[in-house]
Amino acid sequence: MVRNRNQLSPDPIFTLSVASRLSEVPCHSIRQYIDKGLLIPFRTEKQRHLFSEVDISRLKCIRRMIKDGGLNIAGIKAMYSLIPCWEIKPCSIQDRSTCEAYHQVNAPCWEASQKGPNCRNTDCRLCAVYRLPEECQDLKSLFKRLLDQKQSSS
Ligand code: SF4
Repeated sequence: MVRNRNQLSPDPIFTLSVASRLSEVPCHSIRQYIDKGLLIPFRTEKQRHLFSEVDISRLKCIRRMIKDGGLNIAGIKAMYSLIPCWEIKPCSIQDRSTCEAYHQVNAPCWEASQKGPNCRNTDCRLCAVYRLPEECQDLKSLFKRLLDQKQSSS
């Protein structure tokens, strides 16, 4: 059965080796994606990573962008950093002024060390912004959808 992203479970249940087998991404590459901020798996108290169905889908998408799209990690990261999180949350002008995610370039918002009030106590793993690239769409389609949503709600 093929499930869409809304049905994928965010529950952390897979070990690194299982995630590697399911996503067909080598363990060392998964570790590298985590180090570079492309993926935020759950961490146990003993600092072990556990992966969810959502993470597996994300890994497959990253693998596709590298293998078929010719992107590298820096390129994917730069692409993620263009997602206008402040529009999706949404954040007020005042919130933005204190948020590093709004000002930083070349790093996605979930890597910001100084987040605005809307994000400070949020688990990024469950956030709509972090979950957007799971759909593995090109950035243009993503932005079109965001603009359409914004226009229809105004
Ligand atoms: S909660 Fe995390 S992923 Fe969501 S907008 Fe804030 S920093 Fe980004």
